[in-house]
Amino acid sequence: MRIVCASANLHKAAEIADLMHGVAELVPRPAGLADVDEHEDTLVGNARLKAVAVCAATGLPAVADDTGLEIDALGGAPGVRTARWGGEPPDDARNRARALRELAGAASRTARFRTVALVRFPDGRELVAEGTCEGSIAGAERGSRGFGYDPLFIPAEGDGRTFAEMTIEDKHRLSHRGRAFRALALLLSPPA
Ligand code: IMP
Repeated sequence: MRIVCASANLHKAAEIADLMHGVAELVPRPAGLADVDEHEDTLVGNARLKAVAVCAATGLPAVADDTGLEIDALGGAPGVRTARWGGEPPDDARNRARALRELAGAASRTARFRTVALVRFPDGRELVAEGTCEGSIAGAERGSRGFGYDPLFIPAEGDGRTFAEMTIEDKHRLSHRGRAFRALALLLSPPA
């Protein structure tokens, strides 16, 4: 099955391509497609907006993911606003700086990443899967791999390294996106 990747974020698209390897033939998002305004107030709503737009433009099934970081000491913020938390235009370094600022002196630094992965088909059907990764926000940035909040996020099931200190294989094993796309793969090709 050929599925178009709806993500315009190159780091994310590379992770999705890795995770969909052997599950579907992933077609890159066509250059020149307008960015989708992610104005919904849920992850699934924003994932749907992206997948519907790319499915309509290409006539092919499209896969999108939307991800949020939920910090317990901040009542679950930034959640669906994770991409633009540090202000406009969205900037990873500014986002991370805000996380460190907001958590200065906090008693708890626990957090989780949540990803919704959604495939939309031209006939309107869709498949939806979710993955979460529990963890905590480091006191300072560590590591140079990955993207976004990776230098700050320490998965609870890991060995203390941030995602940015891990190989991509280790990140996939533990991450929200790894879990969401493994669940999506099962929906796309249920075991016989
Ligand atoms: P979106 O799903 O592309 O809207 O991403 C939301 C925000 O979460 C952006 O700031 C991303 O950089 C960040 N983000 C998404 N996935 C990851 C991840 O796997 N690690 C770290 N940050 C991420």
